[in-house]
Parts: sequence; structure tokens; C-alpha cells
Amino acid sequence: MIRAFGEKRPRIHPSAFVSEAAYIVGDVEIGPDCTVWPGAVLRADANAIRLARNVHIEDASVLHAVQTPLELGDTVVIGHGVVLHCARVGDRSMVASNATVLDHAEIGSRCLVDSGSLVKPRMVVPDGSFVSGNPAEVRGETRPDQLRRIELGAQLHRETASRYREAGLAALREVLLEAPPVQRALVVVPHPDDAEFYCGGTLALLTRAGGAVRIVVCTRGQRGGRGGEELASRRRAEQEAAASLLGQAEAVVLDYSDGELTDSEELRREIAAEVRRFRPDAIFTFDPEHAYVQTHSYTYLEHTDHRAAGAAALAVAYPRAALPTFYPEQLEHGLRPHRVGELFLFESPQPDCFVDISDVLDVKLAALAAHESQAGVWGGQVEVARRLAADTGLTCGRDYAEAFKRLRLSF
Ligand SMILES: [Zn+2]
Repeated sequence: MIRAFGEKRPRIHPSAFVSEAAYIVGDVEIGPDCTVWPGAVLRADANAIRLARNVHIEDASVLHAVQTPLELGDTVVIGHGVVLHCARVGDRSMVASNATVLDHAEIGSRCLVDSGSLVKPRMVVPDGSFVSGNPAEVRGETRPDQLRRIELGAQLHRETASRYREAGLAALREVLLEAPPVQRALVVVPHPDDAEFYCGGTLALLTRAGGAVRIVVCTRGQRGGRGGEELASRRRAEQEAAASLLGQAEAVVLDYSDGELTDSEELRREIAAEVRRFRPDAIFTFDPEHAYVQTHSYTYLEHTDHRAAGAAALAVAYPRAALPTFYPEQLEHGLRPHRVGELFLFESPQPDCFVDISDVLDVKLAALAAHESQAGVWGGQVEVARRLAADTGLTCGRDYAEAFKRLRLSF
């Protein structure tokens, strides 16, 4: 479990493995190739904890940064049931099972702290030391075979972690630091501003990487904000402005009534025509299978239009756009059947693909702000979107992120 503590938020490199049964809270930074095993607690509520690279925290160990930050260098192994209440463990060192290292103590590089040792507060262990006993004392230099065992232990942890990941036992699945590998993305949403709100950062990354984006907005949006039919034409213009801010994305607004969208055959037919015309390799839309959302900051009910648009888009992805027996009149107009390779569903109760949008958060929020008629709706939607991106970032150890259920279709 990964938790923020006020403004203190864990940051976790995507290559790190964190067991779903570890508890990580506060100002924790976990670097590349680190592993954190079940029952480990990394509590950085008072001070920071930093794991540099290739650091391995075995089961039931407790790291608490109290009076000083706690820094662990490169290629460090912390055994089972260790208590680290100290300031530093240097590069290529190991603290073996059931050892305790107390406040302000510093373990140098290439050190081995023997299992069951008690390192007293403020002890400074010089580089290359073998330490043992209660209270612990330097017993000599670490031997080459001991240092080799630390390296091998680290390697074994990385290999085991990749097997755990494959078995679905990681706290999170896929974290992308750049755009997903999509050349042509079709976005299907019911309202102007939905695309920017739910996946605008990812769309900005896609266009920046040279991808083409087309946004299909199913309704006129006349129930947004203060409402009214004259609002619809204004929202159409806002949607076009917002799409161009996302890097020349195109937008089309269909003519359904806001708030009354249903997953009808008529709607599916129109979306199928868009799919057959634009020929996307991926569709971005709402996960239709849920009624409410809870994040770190918010609890809200999903709009019924969102679920209807998602359901229709899925019905189009297969079988309607793919099979020539659907909507043959479209074929007569030159639109060929098209198979979509994958789906990215937002507002999913079980997201498994996270995209780090920290670099393009400003683009997302600017595109959202282009929907000027919606300013001030539910507490300022730009600020709400920023918080939601931060909440999503929290669940995957990044500053700001968008979350998707990613479905790679086999057929
Ligand atoms: Zn909406």
C-alpha cells in the first residue's frame, strides 16, 4: 500500500518492484531496480527515506526516518526483520536478518552487519567493515566472498521480483514514462471537456510523439455549467480550441442530447463510421462497468452518459466496426471494416496502466481551461483535474498520472 502523508508523497521508479503487501508512506523515494517485499514498512512521516538503486528490503523489515533522513546507497540488501532507525547505509552493503541499527548511526560502503547485531545510536561504521554483536563492534574487514554474496543477493531479488510481477503480485502493473505506443488514437466521450479531463495528458504525449488524435464527443453538452441550447454552440467551439491545444488533435461533436445518452444502435452506428474512417489502432473511452469512483481526495458518482458512451464504444470496437456484416451502407460509401488493436479505458475500477503526465500537466490543464463555459463548475474543474492527476500519481509513485485499464485485443 502506497500512501501520501499530507504533502509528503512516495516516488517510485517504474522498474522497482513493490509488493502489494508492503506499506510505504510519506517522503519515500525508491530508485530503479529496487525491490520491497511483503510486510516491509517504509515510514517517512517525519523525515525522508531514499533508496538509491538496486536496493532490496526483505520481508517484515522496518525503516523509519525520525531524527535524520535515512539514505540507502546503490546495491544494498536489507535482510528479514531488520530495524533501520538510522541515517545511512552505504553502497554495496548488507544488514543481515534481525539486526537493528539505531538513530544517527551510519553504516559505510562495502559493510556487512551480522544478523542479530545491535548497532547503537551514533555509531559510525567505516567503509569495508564486518560488524557483529550486541552492542555491535567492528570485527574486521569484509571478505571478498561476503561482498560477492551481497551482489548475488541483489541479483536474485531482481530476478524473483520479475517472476512476482508476471504472477500479478506487484502493487502496480505498468507505468509508462512516455506516450503509449499508439499511432492513431480515437477518443470516444459524451461531453466536451471529458477527453481533456480524463486523458488529456496522455493525448498531449501522443501528439508530441507524432501520433494522430481524433476526439468524438457524442453530445452537445448543453447541460454543462449553467446549461441551455445556446451553450451547445459555444461548447463546440471550446472543444475545437481545446483539441488544438493538445497538439492539433481533431474534434467532432455529434448531436445527441447531454444527459440522455444511451448505448443505442444509432449511436453505435455513428461511432462505427468514425472508427472505419479514422482507422485508429487504439480507442480511449470510459470503462462502462462502474457506478462510482473513489480517490485519495474525492468520491463521486459516474455520469450516466459516461457509461453509455463507453458501452457504445466497446460495442463498436467489436464486433460492429470489425465485421462487414454490420452497417453495410457504410461499406457502400467506401468505409472498410476496421479492427482496433487495443482499448484504454479511463475511470476504471481496476486500472493497470499508468501514464506519467508530469511533463505535460500544464498542457492538459490549459486545454481544460479552454472550456471557459465550464469554469467554476464543481469547484473549478481545472483544480479538480490537477488533484485527480496527483491522486493517480500517488497510486503509481509519480507526481501526476492518468490511469487506464489497458486491453490488448487478441481477436
Ligand atoms: Zn462528462
